[in-house]
Amino acid sequence: MEAPLVLVDVDGVLNPFRRPDRNFRRHRVEPDGQSFRVWLDARHGRMLRALAAEHGAELAWATYWEDDANLWIAPPLGLPRLPFVPLPRFPGIEEGRSLGAWKARHVAAWTGERPFVWFEDEPDAAESLADNPGVGDHLLVGVDPVTGLTAEHIETAATWLTGRRLPPAVAE
Ligand SMILES: [Mg+2]
Repeated sequence: MEAPLVLVDVDGVLNPFRRPDRNFRRHRVEPDGQSFRVWLDARHGRMLRALAAEHGAELAWATYWEDDANLWIAPPLGLPRLPFVPLPRFPGIEEGRSLGAWKARHVAAWTGERPFVWFEDEPDAAESLADNPGVGDHLLVGVDPVTGLTAEHIETAATWLTGRRLPPAVAE
């Protein structure tokens, strides 16, 4: 059985809209020479690595940061270089698509039949995944962008990953 993926968004998940508590530190980042600041909590890196290690899963980025997440977000969190979902720039609402649906379409294409957990703050990403036939077994863990990723989200993912590994129940 192929190892499940653990997909991680950056903005609204690892970088919440506001600083939730004192564990978050300001980091100046300059992707493509554009300077701005993000809030990051080093505990996220440890939590994600532990989740992947305990469940034989592979971490990957699902974010518009794409490979820039490896340059600017992974090092302060103590994460290694990770594969990423290729995400062309969102064409905009004039094309009649939501950001969540656009992202879900590219996640579904990249993951193929592989099972995955996805930490994401776009509210309609879960239902949008269902519109992609052939998408693998998955769990979307919705994250509130104000607070970002919490231990409860990790626990939800861990429970799902554990359940997938259990042998099917024997019928009576
Ligand atoms: Mg986001």
